[in-house]
Amino acid sequence: MKIQKIKGTKDILPDETEIFLAAEKVLRETMAKYGYREMRTPIFEQTELFRKGTGETTEIVSKQMYSFTDKGGRNLSLRPEGTPSIIRAYLENNLHKKRTFQKLFYYGKMYRQESPQSGRLREFQQFGIEAIGSSSPQIDAETIILGLEILNNIGLRKVETQINSVGCEKCRPSYKESLKNFLESKLNLLCNDCKRRFKTNILRILDCKRETCKQVLKNAPTYENNLCNECKDHFSKVLDLLKKSNVSFTLNPYLVRGLDYYTKTVYEFISPILGAQDAVGGGGRYDKMVELFGGPSIPAIGFACGMERILLAVEKEGKARVQKQHFDCYIVTMDETTDVKGFLLLNELRKKGLICEKDYLNRSLKAQMKDANRLGAEFVIILGSEELRKNEVTLRRMSDSSQKRVNFSVDEIVKEFKA
Ligand code: AMP
Repeated sequence: MKIQKIKGTKDILPDETEIFLAAEKVLRETMAKYGYREMRTPIFEQTELFRKGTGETTEIVSKQMYSFTDKGGRNLSLRPEGTPSIIRAYLENNLHKKRTFQKLFYYGKMYRQESPQSGRLREFQQFGIEAIGSSSPQIDAETIILGLEILNNIGLRKVETQINSVGCEKCRPSYKESLKNFLESKLNLLCNDCKRRFKTNILRILDCKRETCKQVLKNAPTYENNLCNECKDHFSKVLDLLKKSNVSFTLNPYLVRGLDYYTKTVYEFISPILGAQDAVGGGGRYDKMVELFGGPSIPAIGFACGMERILLAVEKEGKARVQKQHFDCYIVTMDETTDVKGFLLLNELRKKGLICEKDYLNRSLKAQMKDANRLGAEFVIILGSEELRKNEVTLRRMSDSSQKRVNFSVDEIVKEFKA
């Protein structure tokens, strides 16, 4: 039996890798522009980290984690998201003692045992930011502006930003209570998942994608009317800053996000072209997580975006995404002697910084020219026995087939390229 890849995983073949690399380059450049520095944490952690950070009652932790026991009897999980690991590492490495305000970002693989579908994988790549140490509404607005700029720079044109405030530990209980009162008499109209959520995590009902549940929620109380003064003030400042920065957004009173830790501002980036799985990213404030992990009371905000889903949306929008790998030249050889000389020349030219390639299959002249074309090489260097006798090479420009003889010397050839 042939061994195949695991359901929900993806092979990224070279053509697509180039697309990822170009997107990752843009990602890193834009992060740097906003002062975010990259942090890399382990792919597996103690399961407890996600139970505590992401939240026991979330779908991710209750249903989707890849967990296992190692030889030492420790319960470990592949990371389903980045934030808990960053906060753990931030505290474990005393980053909070080094600087009051830190801007961190990550990029890496995440693992969730979900039902695979277009844009939903079991192994996928997320990039995310965590701005730790400031409660200023400016940071809320800046993370949204940064997220949109990255998406835009990667090539996504149509992105809708939805925003809401989920309050804080002071105003949330009363909101939960009013939602409970509203839903109590309508429980039998909700899906089974929402019936369970009613007991375990009532806010998640607002997030349910089922049409029947959405209908029930139509007149449900919204956060807006239940926020305490501090949360109200914070939210209106964030919205004002966004408006003044010309960022368009939609208020979505039912946006709560799937994770437990959010406080105040939450937001999502939506690509309308994607269909069912239309969120390309999302985030919000989590002012209590550092404290929850045993650190001091330090506010924080962050977002995470899915790279595969973004690239899918870019493709659907029909944008030419990236330039393919560039080759300066391709060395064409004729026989065993010229082939060895070609190999040595190849290495020398690479040392001089040229991007070049040759044939390794003893192919005919015609096949080598075809290969040079396939790679998009700008020039071909022909090493024929005729040329060798005169200690020369033929340099051929592929775009107009013009060619000239050049001395067979690395410096001469490089000089020609520079010219
Ligand atoms: P979340 O961590 O659930 O807030 O997700 C943030 C972003 O990660 C989403 O908006 C998606 O773009 C991406 N994402 C989440 N789950 C998956 C998945 N199973 N497959 C692919 N991308 C995902």
